[in-house]
Amino acid sequence: MSDGQPCWLCGRPLGHRVEWHHPVPRSQGGRETVPLHAICHRTLHASLDNKALAAFGDDRAALVRDGAIARFLRWIANKPPDFHAPTHRAGPDRRV
Ligand SMILES: [Zn+2]
Ligand SMILES: [Zn+2]
Repeated sequence: MSDGQPCWLCGRPLGHRVEWHHPVPRSQGGRETVPLHAICHRTLHASLDNKALAAFGDDRAALVRDGAIARFLRWIANKPPDFHAPTHRAGPDRRV
């Protein structure tokens, strides 16, 4: 569970569905995971490939200044936590 943490990317409260992301990819030895909204997680991987994600690592401050991510964050800022969440029941946490 997320223990009331906000989403690592957008900072909004988390909804029912929480996905876990490795800021430092496992292939780079990353072991930490952070909770994200499903939509934030999808956007992160859709906007940045693994090489770019590895370059940012856990430097969230730099990540949120990235053009595509910054645009997404402005757009999502006022959406409800479960906005765009899939309608099927959440399965085991995805760790990507
Ligand atoms: Zn989020
Ligand atoms: Zn991920």
